[in-house]
Amino acid sequence: MNKGSLKTYREKRNFRRTPEPEERRKKRNGKKPIFTVQKHAARQLHYDFRLQVGQKLKSWAVPKGPSVDPEDKRMAVEVEDHPLAYADFEGVIPDGEYGAGTVMVWDTGTFQNISKQDHQEVTITRALESGQVAVWLQGKKLKGGYALRRIAAGKKPRWLLIKMRDEEADTRRDLTKIETKSVLSGRTMKQITKEAEASEAPC
Ligand code: MN
Repeated sequence: MNKGSLKTYREKRNFRRTPEPEERRKKRNGKKPIFTVQKHAARQLHYDFRLQVGQKLKSWAVPKGPSVDPEDKRMAVEVEDHPLAYADFEGVIPDGEYGAGTVMVWDTGTFQNISKQDHQEVTITRALESGQVAVWLQGKKLKGGYALRRIAAGKKPRWLLIKMRDEEADTRRDLTKIETKSVLSGRTMKQITKEAEASEAPC
């Protein structure tokens, strides 16, 4: 599978049925790259963690979501790249479609690549290849350093998402439990679901 293309993303979806975006948005040149975390109530609830690399979003499905506790390493399964326009997608993927269920933009912001190898700064592309990524997040909920460490290769590589030890680390808070609303719309999962159903209902 060519992870650097959006072929897999497109093949999995019927864009006449799903409200998810088909095209990438206008290029974001010279700006800080963005990250997004989408809470996704698919067959199994998870959080999709996405980092902008070039004009795409590198993506991981994190079953328990990100933690602010450095001791609490979270499993993150690498999934297909998503188009940049996906970053602010919020709504309901209809039954029968891939990933059917409600999607909330749980957090978003910009990030800085702070990955290093042998004490030298490396590009995010190089860091992803090596399986050792470090980013500094400037989101509304997630802030500071996060590391992604690949622990198993294969068709769906497994990584760990780990909060770094910095001033934003907190061993007492469970962020996914406290923060349950969209940073885009302020809505809960229930409200997003209800409003999508209401707009679909025949008059
Ligand atoms: Mn998902």
